[in-house]
Amino acid sequence: MSDAEETASTPAPRRLRVAVVGAGPAGIYAAEALTRQDDVPVAVDLIDRLPTPFGLVRHGIAPDHLRMRALRDTLHGVLDHEHVRFVGNVEIGTDLSLEELRRHVDAVVYTYGASRDRALSIEGEDLPGSIAATDLVGWYCGHPDADRERIEAALQGVRNAIVIGVGNVALDVARVLVRTPEELDPTDMPQHVLDALAAAPVESVTVLGRRGPAQASFTTKELDELGELAGATVLVDGADLPGEEEPPPADRLKARNIKVLRGYAPNTAEPGRATITLRFFARPARIVGEDRVTGVEVERTAVDADGRATGTGEYTTLPADLVVRSVGYRGLPLPGLPLDTSSNTVPNEAGRVLRDGAPSAGEYVAGWIKRGPTGVVGTNKHDARETVATLLADVQEGTIAPHGDEDDLVRTLRARGADPVLLPNWKAIDAAETALGATRGRQRTTIHDRDDLLAAARAAEIEAEAEAAADS
Ligand code: NAP
Repeated sequence: MSDAEETASTPAPRRLRVAVVGAGPAGIYAAEALTRQDDVPVAVDLIDRLPTPFGLVRHGIAPDHLRMRALRDTLHGVLDHEHVRFVGNVEIGTDLSLEELRRHVDAVVYTYGASRDRALSIEGEDLPGSIAATDLVGWYCGHPDADRERIEAALQGVRNAIVIGVGNVALDVARVLVRTPEELDPTDMPQHVLDALAAAPVESVTVLGRRGPAQASFTTKELDELGELAGATVLVDGADLPGEEEPPPADRLKARNIKVLRGYAPNTAEPGRATITLRFFARPARIVGEDRVTGVEVERTAVDADGRATGTGEYTTLPADLVVRSVGYRGLPLPGLPLDTSSNTVPNEAGRVLRDGAPSAGEYVAGWIKRGPTGVVGTNKHDARETVATLLADVQEGTIAPHGDEDDLVRTLRARGADPVLLPNWKAIDAAETALGATRGRQRTTIHDRDDLLAAARAAEIEAEAEAAADS
């Protein structure tokens, strides 16, 4: 038999089918790492419960961070890869069980992130006017699941807001609350969000850190940016900052933060301008109010040499008509997948899922649900690469090999009554958002309503059918 005959009669080995659950940055970077190598031919289904890709790049990065949000253009390149298929509007655990998915494919990479807020567990947390930053951020980014009624009721008439926590999300929230309508106009925020923010007469935002400025987790660039706001002045009590004579914090990031904070210390409130007050050594003890939030009782703390805060027994109540709890995100369990409830992450070893402490063949994890809600978007690139290297090593060792059944995942989903949104459908949503933005001179406006998103997605099918009819 000639070489040519042998090639013709030997079927090419089937591509390894990999399902990536979650089309946020971690999922897209995992798909990129899988398709950027030649050792193992792969076909990736990038599944998301939303009809849209990009996860926190779409529904987390603050809309006024236009340059960071433009990252979606880079991520989009991965969706266009011939061996990557975006499968949106499909919830694993509801539309298809994890077990069924695992039967369909050869390996699964879970990258569904950490979508919920961490609880503060203090009295008054659930009062009207007390909202989680995760919910506020979802709302202003146009997340389809945002509870518009509750958030917009909480924002109505707000003059004094308190944000609990001193991470980057807390700074995002504080900044967005005091931005002028002109500053927010070029963003892709839905129109109802722009209207509600413009109508909220926010005069002051107090950001509370339970420890000192040297322990705050915000980053210098984000802290610095507060000083450039058109309509707000940043206030810091200089007495809460380490003295110039004290050695700077060993951590260079923290030392840079202190330097920026020192620059804010001489500021004073100015008539006609809002304020953002960064208040440290203030542990929230309870959220005060009868039918609605009226303030936060805080206890002054002292921080020991190990960075731990202890209460001093000195209490003050700070008035507020809105409290935003920004104390971190939390991963949720996926039915059928183990979750370590102390860290809210999936137990894993270099991205290999552990079930009862033992590696589970063909199951991997990347992103926040692997390591917890830390790092910037780019951190997920390294994280996803580590996971994909683990997966490929398992293929080389023969731990996983093509075994999934031959049925096409999308066909199966449709047979079950699910309505998967594929790449052409997403492109139709994308075009609809660009067109909506153009009606007000903006680059894009996010469509927030799930039905509207699905209607826009269907436009792709209507167009394809019309084209087919014209061709026949
Ligand atoms: P984070 O950085 O972990 O900050 C959480 C904050 O909540 C900390 O200040 C923490 O204080 C405080 N906290 C926790 N429990 C508390 C309690 N019981 N009472 C009072 N305060 C409490 O989380 P994040 O702000 O949600 O951000 C998540 C990740 O996304 C981070 O890695 C962040 O850098 C990233 N992110 C980046 C950007 C950007 O690059 N522009 C924007 C947004 C988010 P302790 O330190 O005392 O625990």
